Amino acid sequence: MSRQLKFNIFRYNPQDPASVPHADTFLLEETPSLTLFIALNKLREEQDPSLMFDFACRMAICGSCGMVINGRPGLACRTLTSDLPAEITLMPLPVFKLVGDLSVDTGTWFRATNSKIESWIHTDQEFDPQATEERMENALAESIFELERCIECGCCVASCGTANMREDFVGAFALNRMARFIMDPRDKRKDADYFEVVGTDQGIFGCMGLLACEDVCPRSIPLQDQLGLLRRKMGFIALKSIFKRKG
Ligand code: SF4
Ligand code: SF4
Repeated sequence: MSRQLKFNIFRYNPQDPASVPHADTFLLEETPSLTLFIALNKLREEQDPSLMFDFACRMAICGSCGMVINGRPGLACRTLTSDLPAEITLMPLPVFKLVGDLSVDTGTWFRATNSKIESWIHTDQEFDPQATEERMENALAESIFELERCIECGCCVASCGTANMREDFVGAFALNRMARFIMDPRDKRKDADYFEVVGTDQGIFGCMGLLACEDVCPRSIPLQDQLGLLRRKMGFIALKSIFKRKG
């Protein structure tokens, strides 16, 4: 027999002065292979057309449908209701600006953070569209690709104690991104340049290391390894500069 699901959904429209934050309850019959993405679309089509939430690809590629599902950030399109209890509470991701109900503006946050950490390859080499593609060892290319799989969903940021308390903390997303550039031989930044961006309290030294970020990442990006390596590398650069000053 199928279950009757009870959804408690956060509702608030910051654009509407009459709107006050509250939760609405919806009931829905569970069907086989029902995801939260499908359930929310059903609720919007059949019960409340004003319900706001984001989605685009429904296959964990676009990163739009991040929300807090029974207290844990995750993607609605990847979450089967059969993996949840019959009562499901949905909240918008914290840290990001609320657009309305479950919809948040992750884009502004990611754009600002990407600019802050200068999230691009720094090189003096001029781009020649006629040149043959530069070679890179397969193993290295694969290691870089492993970290490039981030879809900027914001779940790691929303789960992070430091990011929730401090607006200036760049979060696991940015630390992983920086680790990817450090690994890339085409990026000509020096140790001191990386240190300036992430060797600070806004970067790796603001991280408490409890790894909620890794627990919730829907792409299973090895954040634990990258944060550990970055911490060691930044610590080493700091020590090196102290000994250099003394020598
Ligand atoms: S390990 Fe660091 S980046 Fe990850 S959730 Fe904890 S404080 Fe945030
Ligand atoms: S690192 Fe994982 S959780 Fe964080 S934004 Fe990228 S895909 Fe999402």
